[in-house]
This record gives sequence, structure tokens and C-alpha cells, in this order.
Amino acid sequence: MSSYDLVVIGTGPGGYVCAIRAAQLGLKTAVVEKRATHGGTCLNVGCIPSKALLHASEAFEEAGKHFADLGVIVSEPKLDLKKMMAFKDEGVAGNTKGVEFLLKKNGVDSYRGTGRLAGAGRVEVIAEDGGNQLLETRNVVIATGSDVAKLPGVTIDETVVVSSTGALELGSVPKTLVVIGAGVIGLELGSVWRRLGSEVVVIEYLDRVLPGMDGEVGKQFQRILGKQGITFKLSAKVTGVEVGKKGGATVTVEPAAGGEAEKIQADAVLVAIGRVPYTEGLGLETVGVQTDNKGRIQTDSQYATNVTGIYAIGDVIAGPMLAHKAEDEGVAVAEILAGQSGHVNYGVIPNVVYTFPEVASVGKTEEELKKDGIRYNAGKFPFTANGRAKVNHTTDGFVKILADADTDRVLGVHIVGADAGNLIAEVAVAMEFGASAEDVARTCHAHPTLTEAVKEAALAVGKRAIHI
Ligand code: FAD
Repeated sequence: MSSYDLVVIGTGPGGYVCAIRAAQLGLKTAVVEKRATHGGTCLNVGCIPSKALLHASEAFEEAGKHFADLGVIVSEPKLDLKKMMAFKDEGVAGNTKGVEFLLKKNGVDSYRGTGRLAGAGRVEVIAEDGGNQLLETRNVVIATGSDVAKLPGVTIDETVVVSSTGALELGSVPKTLVVIGAGVIGLELGSVWRRLGSEVVVIEYLDRVLPGMDGEVGKQFQRILGKQGITFKLSAKVTGVEVGKKGGATVTVEPAAGGEAEKIQADAVLVAIGRVPYTEGLGLETVGVQTDNKGRIQTDSQYATNVTGIYAIGDVIAGPMLAHKAEDEGVAVAEILAGQSGHVNYGVIPNVVYTFPEVASVGKTEEELKKDGIRYNAGKFPFTANGRAKVNHTTDGFVKILADADTDRVLGVHIVGADAGNLIAEVAVAMEFGASAEDVARTCHAHPTLTEAVKEAALAVGKRAIHI
């Protein structure tokens, strides 16, 4: 029987990063993965393929709608969907192979199969052909991630009624696409298919898009997506989806508060109502690992479960279901296991929506600050007043910085705008260092860049923005 200091179950961004960090710190480490390739949801059916399609569809839209404004005259672009999917698959393969290389390079042993807890200090690896292998280990990190949340009464067939996984693989552009759920995944994939020619209708139970993000950001973002052609039905619930005999589906929608039902015909329906922790086949019950009422593995601040030697990280535990959160937890738990002081600052985890424009957010929203009774000053700067955004014709959106009214410490930053996902990084660093809005405002920002809008928003906290 092979013997390890650490066996990590699952090689998504949480698991593979944890294994590499543990190996760097001298722990004899193995990973167990049941998928054919490493990288988990993120690299195989999540972040990476969705961003590949967002990138390619944005280029398609740019060529068709905006190149002429720049004096670049091309004939009407044609969509080669097969080629676009091949571009996406190539990106996925490159990334998953990269993880395989990194695991090998760091001396991490890799086992293919379903990992199952088999009593204290033991993990059983069950291969697809039924063969099994027993690993002995001092510690186990569970990093089994999450799965698509199902809508009661709606069957996902991954052809007409699809999850995000099916929506990344559609063989043709649906004439009408109904998206159930106005969260990040629904709006990103809705944007992809709208750009490629679908009429997209988004149905959301709540009265707003991007629940959990800053309210003003949500409103402005919905307006922008509406201008781009996406239709929203908010405060509405889907009560049924019936797939037709000749393809397509009929979606039944009612007001969330009750009332008359309406039927919408769609060629495809994307169910994007969230994700749930994935622990199937893991054998949690064999050793008595506790889960909470949402099925998440319960851990303490050191990622330890109630069973000695068993830890958990990433989507399978509480917190935002984000790849970088999983990665940072992977590093933290590896460091803890090596006797160091691994730590994640949950107050500074950026959240990005990779549409056009992008949405990015870190720290507290205005709603949260009000609820917590924290007095704050808000500084806001629109991209219409930023030189680079003006010249690029990317003036939609704004930067908003929320700073403590007494100390000026930055508490939250919310951006709608081109490249917001990159812009948020500087304020995340600033927040990690406990910066004030004045610190950001007094930092020299290159001209002409979109980052100047961040500086101006910081100046606006002190009511001294220059360009508005
Ligand atoms: P996962 O990535 O889910 O990996 C878990 C792995 O464990 C899987 O490979 C699975 O096969 C394996 N596994 C499960 N059970 C077992 C077992 N018993 N034995 C062996 N292996 C097992 N996040 C972002 O931060 N940015 C984005 O842009 C983004 N875009 C997304 C787009 C889509 C369409 C989706 C679906 C998700 C997106 N996410 C994004 C979320 C992100 O993918 C997850 O937060 C992240 O993958 C979680 O990492 P993880 O390591 O916890 O789990």
C-alpha cells in the first residue's frame, strides 16, 4: 500500500494548488481525480471554456458592429461555430495539460478514479473499470467541488434544456434562448449566445440581477445588457419546462408573488440557478464527516472537519464558489499541514463577471455597510469622463469606492466597465494593505489608462475628483 503525508481528493483549482503547495513544503503528496483530465470544473467546464467563448464571441460582435467605427472595414463576419468550439477546446486542453505537467514537476503522484474515505487514514481509489487501490495517508484534503443545482420539475437533458456544461457545447445557435437565473453564469453565457445571434430572455426570481453584488451596480449592469438586446423578466419564477416532440421547449413563467402564468417558446433553455456542493461517492458517512443544511462540509477556521486528519476546501465548503477562493484555501491548508500559518482574508475576495462591460467587486457593498451601521463616504467616477475609455468608445459604467467615514480606509470597490476584472486587482492589493482612499488617490496612475478612473473615484471620496 502506498503511504503519503497528504492525499487530496479532486484536482480542481482548490485541489491541484493545494497538492503543489504541499509538495513544495516537503509533504509526500498524492491526488485522486475521477475526471479524465485535471483542473476540475474550472478548467474543464467552467471558468476557462466560458472565457474562451466570451472572448471569441466578443471578437465576432466587435468585427460585425464596431470595426467600421474605427475605420476598419471588413465584410460581414460569418460564424463558424465548430471552429469557435475547437478554439475553446484547445484552450481547455492546454490548461488541463498544464496542470498535469505542474503536478508531475512537483513530484505529486496522480491516481485516476473516485476517491472514497475508507476509515481513519485511508483513501480507496475506485477506477472506472471497478479496480481499486488503497492509499494510506496522514491527512486528507477533500476538494471535490460543486455540481449544477437542479430546478425541481425541470429535467436537464443537455441538448434542449442545458446546464452551463451543455451551454458551452451547443451545436447550433438557438434562435431563442431562455436563461433561468440572472447570476454570473447565466449572464455570461447569455451574453455569449446573444452575441452569436440568439434572442435571449433571462428569467430571475428576485427583483434584480447579480444578487449579492452592489445594488447600484446591478441596476446599471441590467440597463447595459438590456441595451445590448437581452430581455429580463425579474420577480418571475419558472414553474415548468416542457420539451416539444420536434425539439425546442415551452417555458411556463409566473410572477414570483403569484398570478397569471405566461408561456415562452425557446429553442434552448439554460438552467443557471446556482451550484451545490458535490460529495457523491466520497463516503463521508464511513468516517462521520459532518455537513451543514446546504450539504457543505463543515470546517473550522483551519479547514479541519470534525474528523481528525480530514480537511476540506473550495466549493465543497462554505463561502463564495470561486476558483481563486478555492486556490487560496488550497495554499492555506497545505501551509497549515506543514506547520505554517496559512490564512485567507475573506474580506478581500474579488468577484468578476466577464461580460462586456465587465463587472468587478471586492469588499463590502453599500447595502452591507448600511445593514452593519457603518458610516462611509462613496466616491464615484464614470467612464464617460475617462480619456482612454472615451477614445476607445467604452464609456459604459463607473468605479465606486466606499471608504470608512472616520478612518478613510477602503471598505469596498465596485466597478462596471471595460477590463473591470483587471482594474479590481489594484484595489484588492490596497485593501490587503489597509489603504485609505487617499492612499489610492495619491498613487500615481499612468495616463491614459482606465486605472485613472480608480484614482478619480478615490479622489471623489474626498470630493476632489479632477475630471468631473
Ligand atoms: P472543482 O473545480 O469543482 O473540482 C473538483 C474536482 O473534484 C472535479 O474535477 C471532480 O471531478 C473531482 N471529484 C469530485 N468527487 C471526487 C471523488 N470522489 N474522487 C475523485 N475526484 C472527485 N469561478 C471563478 O473564480 N471565475 C470564473 O470565471 C468562473 N466561471 C465559471 C463558469 C462556469 C460555467 C462554472 C460552472 C463555474 C465557474 N466558476 C468560476 C466557478 C469555479 O469553477 C469553481 O468555483 C471552482 O472550480 C471550484 O474549485 P474546486 O477545486 O473547489 O472544485
